[in-house]
Amino acid sequence: MLLKADLHIHSNHSDGKSSVKEIIKVAVERKLDIISITDHNTVNGSLEALEIVREENLPIVILPGIEISTAQGHLLAFGVTKDVEAGIEMGEAVQIVRELGGVTSLAHPFQFYRHGAVRLCCFEIVDCVEVFNAKSLGIFNKLSDFFCRRFEKGRTAGSDAHKAEFVGYGVTVIDVNDVSLDGILKALKSGKSEVKGKTVMLGHILSKLR
Ligand SMILES: [Zn+2]
Ligand SMILES: [Zn+2]
Repeated sequence: MLLKADLHIHSNHSDGKSSVKEIIKVAVERKLDIISITDHNTVNGSLEALEIVREENLPIVILPGIEISTAQGHLLAFGVTKDVEAGIEMGEAVQIVRELGGVTSLAHPFQFYRHGAVRLCCFEIVDCVEVFNAKSLGIFNKLSDFFCRRFEKGRTAGSDAHKAEFVGYGVTVIDVNDVSLDGILKALKSGKSEVKGKTVMLGHILSKLR
């Protein structure tokens, strides 16, 4: 079964402008099947999302997540409901996420000015690579894609939305056998995903000017 997921979203639990409620509303309207709220160094956005979806019985799956600021750059982690300390080595962060039963994806690699990892050794240790980030320049997404294939890693995409209106601009299409947390994580880890999306560079630049 093919499911559509935006696996990189920020809420006002970190530097995003929108509430978790607003993000979920847009995601449901845009018919996404799965979202991950990946706030910087906190799972609180994800925990709130899990609660809202459960309480209101909404037709969307929350894959809990976080974007960890490691010493070598930003690292996305899915399937974790505990914070991972910022500033530690990426290798250590990957190990901790694994022990928590989660899956890692290298966030917007090569985007050195947005704390994307630039070292190739980082590609070796992660489970997946974010090969489409809606806020990245095409050249960086292409480079990420090239090295993702070379290191034979799973593929993820995300909007990296900091406002609800951009939710769904980056979509990971995941081929899952069963729609459970385990099923989704397993599919990501075993490379059963593809990516699509549109970049929001112009919208992003304009929003900075406002
Ligand atoms: Zn980032
Ligand atoms: Zn981000």
